[in-house]
Amino acid sequence: MVSVRGVGKSFGANVVLRDIDLTVNKSEVVCLIGPSGSGKSTLLRCINFLEVYDRGEIRIEGKLVGYTEAAPRRQLSNRELRDLRRNVGMVFQQFNLWPHMTALENVAEALIQVRGMDKAAAVAHARRMLDRVGLAEKADSYPARLSGGQQQRVAIARVIAMEPHLILFDEPTSALDPELVGEVLQVMRDLAADGMTMVVVTHEMGFAANVADKVAFLDRGRIAAFGPPREVFHESGEPRLKQFLQTYH
Ligand code: ATP
Ligand code: MG
Repeated sequence: MVSVRGVGKSFGANVVLRDIDLTVNKSEVVCLIGPSGSGKSTLLRCINFLEVYDRGEIRIEGKLVGYTEAAPRRQLSNRELRDLRRNVGMVFQQFNLWPHMTALENVAEALIQVRGMDKAAAVAHARRMLDRVGLAEKADSYPARLSGGQQQRVAIARVIAMEPHLILFDEPTSALDPELVGEVLQVMRDLAADGMTMVVVTHEMGFAANVADKVAFLDRGRIAAFGPPREVFHESGEPRLKQFLQTYH
């Protein structure tokens, strides 16, 4: 589903990603963990070309991300990028809901504007998506009247309404009060159980241990450990990983 091969990325003199290889198979959940500044968000953003990578290649469902297949490569036009991102959803730390729209309208909007669904069909679909994240009864609430956890669940409903093949999450629970984290993780767990392919940057080690098929530990722009959670958490001899895990236990 996702193949990252030899990817490098610098911001000026700051080398942020070094020779990254990562494979995410269909229906897998891969968690990216690592210290602040290790390159987790940058790698996630490169996967849907929100960030331009300098070296290597990234493919989603076989399609080269960001560039044409021809040599010499040309960067994709905005229209081509839109097509590429059609099947890729992204959930951020900040929920980015439209404040002047209800939960239902937030979910239905892109279905109408981007997918060209008629309003009745979009609203019916949006209701089903809100039901899936446990918010059917909040359909007519505005974001300001929802808790952070509820807002993030609306944001997830909005993403899954577009029926992506892959969802990228960048610290989806980091902005939440601790008591609201669980409800968002539960929605993500349900998505994983339904077979959604997910790449999740997270500091929730319990989620990574229980839900991830693979965990990648990023350290200073390199993947320093990669494998099933049990191996990465308990069997890795990587000292920087041990040090990192100690700060989260
Ligand atoms: P955190 O856990 O704090 O979110 P992260 O692992 O997601 O950290 P990144 O945001 O990928 O880290 O940043 C990696 C490095 O790249 C940092 O040194 C950061 O300062 C730098 N960086 C990220 N985005 C930019 C940018 N747009 N311009 C310049 N430097 C950037
Ligand atoms: Mg980050």
